[in-house]
Amino acid sequence: MKTNESLLNERNQHIPQGPFNTHPIFVEKAEGAIITDVEGKKYIDFAGGIGANNVGHCDKKVLKSIQDQIEKYIHPCFHVVMYEPYVELAKRLNELTPGHFPKKTMFVNSGAEGVENAIKISRHATGRPAIITFEDAFHGRTLLALSLTSKMKPYKFGFGPYAPEIYRMPYAYCYRCAFGLEYPSCEIDCAYFLKEFFHTHISAENVAGLIVEPVLGEGGFVIPPKEYFRILHTICKENGIVFIADEVQTGFGRTAKMFAVEHYEVEPDLIVMAKSIAGGLPLSAVTGKAELMDHPQSGGLGGTFAGNPVACSAALTVLDQFKNLSLLSKAEKIGKKVLEKFREFQERYPVVGDVRGLGAMVGMELVVDRKTKEPATALTKRLINLCREKGLLMISAGTHSNIIRSLMPLVITNNQLDEGLRIIGEVLDEISPP
Ligand code: PLP
Repeated sequence: MKTNESLLNERNQHIPQGPFNTHPIFVEKAEGAIITDVEGKKYIDFAGGIGANNVGHCDKKVLKSIQDQIEKYIHPCFHVVMYEPYVELAKRLNELTPGHFPKKTMFVNSGAEGVENAIKISRHATGRPAIITFEDAFHGRTLLALSLTSKMKPYKFGFGPYAPEIYRMPYAYCYRCAFGLEYPSCEIDCAYFLKEFFHTHISAENVAGLIVEPVLGEGGFVIPPKEYFRILHTICKENGIVFIADEVQTGFGRTAKMFAVEHYEVEPDLIVMAKSIAGGLPLSAVTGKAELMDHPQSGGLGGTFAGNPVACSAALTVLDQFKNLSLLSKAEKIGKKVLEKFREFQERYPVVGDVRGLGAMVGMELVVDRKTKEPATALTKRLINLCREKGLLMISAGTHSNIIRSLMPLVITNNQLDEGLRIIGEVLDEISPP
C-alpha cells in the first residue's frame, strides 16, 4: 500500500516545487466535510479545496448530474456546436446575480481566466486601457491576473515584467488602516481617496475598470465597512468606469448571501465567479450588463474548454442544492458559531489580534504583539500543522500568511464543526498559553 510518505517522495521526484502543497497528505476519499487520506486517517476539512466545495465533497446529486452528462457528451466545444447546459446556466446566473438591468454571462475555466475576461470586456467596452486594483488583492496567477494581484512572495517575485496600466489603491483594511484612521470617525476616507487617486496616479478618463474583492480572500478575509463599496461604485459610475466584483472566493454562498456584494447593496457592472460554482469542477463565469458583455465581437472571447458541459451540468445542480439543502442559512449558522468561538479565542489568547466575519467567511488574524501588530507568520504555520496532526485541515491567508480562514463545506455537521473548533482551541492552548 502506498503511504503519504512514499507518495510524497514520488511527488518530489516528478513534480516541481512551484505548484505548492499545504499538507503532506494524499487523499483517498472525500465526502461532505471529511477527507480520508491514503492511510485511512480522517480529517475535518476547514479548507474546502480553497473554497471550491461549498456544497460539500462529492455531493450525491452533483455526482449524478456529472454521470448523466458524461454519458451523453463530454466536449463538443461550445465554439463548434452549442449545448443546452451552457445556455441554461447563463440564464440562471443572469437571474441570480444582483443588478436590475439586462445581463449576459460567458464561461471560462478558472478564476484567473474569469478575471482576465472581465478586464478584456471592460477595456473593449470603454476603449480605455487602465485598471484599478487594490493592495492585498488576489486575482489569480496568469500574467494579467497576477499583475492585478498584490502579494510579492511567493506569487509575484521573479515572474515579472507585469502587464502595464495597472494602478493599486489601499483597501479598506480597518485593522491595519493605510491612512492611520479608525472607523467610523474616518468617514471612509479610503473610498473617497479614489477621487484623489485620479489626480495622483491615473486620470479617470483613462480607467476602463476597477476590480475589487467584496471581502479579501487570499488577502486575509478583510471585510470593509458597509458604506465602502457604495462610495467606490458611485465614483466609478460618475466617471464611466466599469465596476468589477471579483466574487471568486466570496461567491456562491460563502458569506450567507449568494454574492457578498449583496451585503453592501451595490450592483456591479460585471461579476466574476469560479471556485464553488461547479461543485469542484473547473468552471468560471463572467456575468454583467448586457451592453458591456455584448461589446467584444464574435471570436473575441472564449476558449477550447470554456463552459465545458460537464461543469455546466454540475453547476446547475449546485444551484439546486443551495435551495434543497438551505445552504445560505447554514452558512449563516456556521459563521455565527465560528465567529463566536474565534472571539472567545481572542479574549483568551493574546496572539489573536483581530477576528472578523461575514457569513461563513470568518478570519482570525494572529499577531506577535497586539500593540505592534507584527504578523505571527511562523506561529500560524505551526498552528495549521498541529491542527492537521489532530485531524483538522486548514489553510492560512494574508499577505503575511498570518490569518486563519474558514472555508469549510457548508454541509459540515454540527459535530464536525464543534470538533474542528475544539481542535483549534486545544492547539492555541499548546502554542500560545493564555
Ligand atoms: N480571484 C479571487 C478572489 C480568488 O480568491 C482566486 C483564487 O483564490 C482567484 C481570483 C483565482 O482563481 P483560480 O485559482 O481559479 O485561477
